[in-house]
Amino acid sequence: MTTTSDQLDVDALNAMFETAGPEKIVEWAAAQFGDELVMSSSFGAESALLIHMAITHRPNVKIIFTDTGYLFPETFTHLENLRKQFNLNVWTYRTKNDPIAYLSNSGETDPTWRNNIDACCAVNKNEPFDRAMKDLAPKAWLRGIRRNQADTRKGRAFIEWSSRYNCYAISPLLNMTSKDIYYYMKQHNLPYHPLYEQGYLSIGCNPLSCTRPVMPGDDPRSGRWAGSGKIECGLNVEPATPSEIPSATARPGTPGGGV
Ligand code: SF4
Repeated sequence: MTTTSDQLDVDALNAMFETAGPEKIVEWAAAQFGDELVMSSSFGAESALLIHMAITHRPNVKIIFTDTGYLFPETFTHLENLRKQFNLNVWTYRTKNDPIAYLSNSGETDPTWRNNIDACCAVNKNEPFDRAMKDLAPKAWLRGIRRNQADTRKGRAFIEWSSRYNCYAISPLLNMTSKDIYYYMKQHNLPYHPLYEQGYLSIGCNPLSCTRPVMPGDDPRSGRWAGSGKIECGLNVEPATPSEIPSATARPGTPGGGV
């Protein structure tokens, strides 16, 4: 039996969640953690799905959005549309770097390409998210990863203790297939990201090194950091040592969806 300080029996919960279905897991998380539950969203291709599940049970749940400085304009449009449609409680955490200055200071000469993806993700993506989690200090965090997205995600459990964020990480969508997602989106009339129709099935930052459209039938995640060997931005990874976590100096986020 795996327990943590507040004695949740994680092993028993995971066994139950394998057959519970994503909506039941979200319902359980909302009841269990109340206001101390947050969720993260990239406002990417199919992000409306987890947002919809979460607000069904916690209408005012805090949604953490990380602004790297290099997102597609369409992502902000999508965020604003969803925010207005569902009255979302979005907390935006921005990179501390000026996007243009970062490129010249780090020796990146082409705005449409990153030579050092890990360095850019560390300070522009991981640092703002780490700061958000430190500021908000939730007891649990809902995230939208799925087992069929990457080898690194195949072994994930529905509820895990995150020592990096000092909270439970809850992944209700782990077993969802693309077909399941399509039917949920259709049933609830949820919008996809505006670039989805153009083949962007997994959407992060706008440099071509980081996000590109894929062909029909291709693995949706193959458009992320294509050819680099990288498959995770780092938010869903527990660093091997504390020194791998970028520093999280306090700087408040922006409640209410300012982007
Ligand atoms: S996805 Fe690309 S542009 Fe975005 S933070 Fe990572 S390396 Fe930088």
